[in-house]
Amino acid sequence: MKYQFSVTKTTNPKAKPDPDTLGFGAQFTDHMFLLDYKEGKGWHNGRIVPYGPLELDPAALVFHYGQEMFEGLKAYKDPNGKVVLFRPDKNVERTNNTNRRMCIPEIEKDLMIEAIKAVVEIDKDWIPEKEGTALYVRPFIIATEPCLSVRPSKEFLFAVILSPVGPYYKEGMAPTKIYVEQDFIRAVKGGTGFAKIGGNYAGALLSQEVAHEEGYSQVLWLDGVEKKYVEEIGTSNAFFVIDNEVITAPLEGTILPGITRDSVINLLKSWGVTVREERLAIADLWKYYEQGRVQEIFATGTAAVISPVGELKWLDHVMNINNGEIGPISQRLYDEITGIQLGKMEDKFGWVVHVD
Ligand SMILES: *Cc1c(COP(=O)(O)O)cnc(C)c1O
Repeated sequence: MKYQFSVTKTTNPKAKPDPDTLGFGAQFTDHMFLLDYKEGKGWHNGRIVPYGPLELDPAALVFHYGQEMFEGLKAYKDPNGKVVLFRPDKNVERTNNTNRRMCIPEIEKDLMIEAIKAVVEIDKDWIPEKEGTALYVRPFIIATEPCLSVRPSKEFLFAVILSPVGPYYKEGMAPTKIYVEQDFIRAVKGGTGFAKIGGNYAGALLSQEVAHEEGYSQVLWLDGVEKKYVEEIGTSNAFFVIDNEVITAPLEGTILPGITRDSVINLLKSWGVTVREERLAIADLWKYYEQGRVQEIFATGTAAVISPVGELKWLDHVMNINNGEIGPISQRLYDEITGIQLGKMEDKFGWVVHVD
């Protein structure tokens, strides 16, 4: 190990949750990782401490102008009980892409990876082992300098917290009902759509609330300029299987470059499936649907892995996808990605990283 972190263990360990009733991000482990940044000094004072409240100045910049970012990945135990992470290097790469956009100082790759490994290792008994469960790892950075001027903070806090999670959707991998958002938009080119930041989420809450009130689990976002092309589903990347080919929105600055998205594209290509990262007009999707050519729609993200869409509503048009059932490509992707994550399938791409 290149870095030394101080460790203060909790004197008050909590009871582990019942693996059958785990939700998403509702319970937290005994420890957390913290690291400070100060202009002129860089990132310093990496430490593991008991999980608990942070003390911050009410003038901390994050509370006022939202300078912050976050990441998400999962830790698992393989069949030999070894602790593994899935593609953590991609999270670090994305962290620094986000940081550059948000005027947050970059963080060295090995420092972030070692921080994640160290805190996961300390709380590894919290990794649930039941099918569909994992230890969700949430790194984040907040601007902590007390200051009401609008400018980048000179002080930051990087933290990693851990949460044992069950399946993301209560119904498990059951197909969801989605509608196409016509009023609100999520991102435009030149904005922050590609950055993993709270601001993008806060701005999308109202749309999600309306969707829930109307009985839908998420919305499908269209591009913010013409409201014509499909982009993301809620906070996940969107994939469409049409004529046995797979199409997903290109990375042009408005969608989040999902790590699951990248894994899905790599797997599909390795199976010989054609994947096109191209714009898809919602009107064309409806036309293909009417012609009986739309086979599957699914969303991808760390939390749910693969989330098939059973019904998609656009204006007055309702598309029933694969009779509301999980399609073969969605199922195979889910089985293969979770199989690799859990060490039950061959890791051809070298995606799994050992913690211990
Ligand atoms: C995190 C996120 C995703 C999924 O990314 P993964 O790396 O696959 O978890 C997709 N869209 C948005 C907006 C996100 O924040």
